[in-house]
Amino acid sequence: EGDPRLKAISDAITVVPHFPKPGIMFQDITTLVSNHKVFKHTVEIFVDRFRDMDISVVAGVEARGFMFAPSKALGIRTKFIPLRKPGQLPGEVIAEAYELEYGKDCLEMHVGAVESGERALVIDDLVATGGTLPATIRLLERNGGEVVECACVIGLPALKERRLLNGKPLYVLVEPR
Ligand code: AMP
Repeated sequence: EGDPRLKAISDAITVVPHFPKPGIMFQDITTLVSNHKVFKHTVEIFVDRFRDMDISVVAGVEARGFMFAPSKALGIRTKFIPLRKPGQLPGEVIAEAYELEYGKDCLEMHVGAVESGERALVIDDLVATGGTLPATIRLLERNGGEVVECACVIGLPALKERRLLNGKPLYVLVEPR
């Protein structure tokens, strides 16, 4: 809580009101990843947390999860697997649809990307209503993975208490502003 790196991370996020539509307070992380010192703080905080959790898979959610997940996988020496929007993965896939604030979306994962019993993390930039992360948990579990935690740079602390992520722990660094 008193970690000055967390304030730097929060300060580096740009809030854009009414993007991409009226009423949304868009949390723009491009200004975070363009600041290498602050971007590195996110890597170090996550890697320190995950190092001793016996993880062997880090899954990232397309597209902004791809900005945060691979550096964590390298930092804790695990494989990285991409969870992609439909039609992008060339091999055999499994798919999970989920509800968004407006409309539906879907994520796909390569069959065999995770082996039975592997301990996995899921990383995205932000959790809002928490529709996306449960779909990613279902993808990993259907392939035999065990999701140990979901982690985001930005999220409401209240989401941690709601067990809406299929009962999985949620770890967030900063709140939306
Ligand atoms: P949700 O499934 O409702 O938890 O939404 C999470 C996904 O939507 C993440 O992949 C975010 O990148 C994106 N998202 C939702 N709300 C916002 C927001 N206010 N600012 C930026 N991205 C958002």
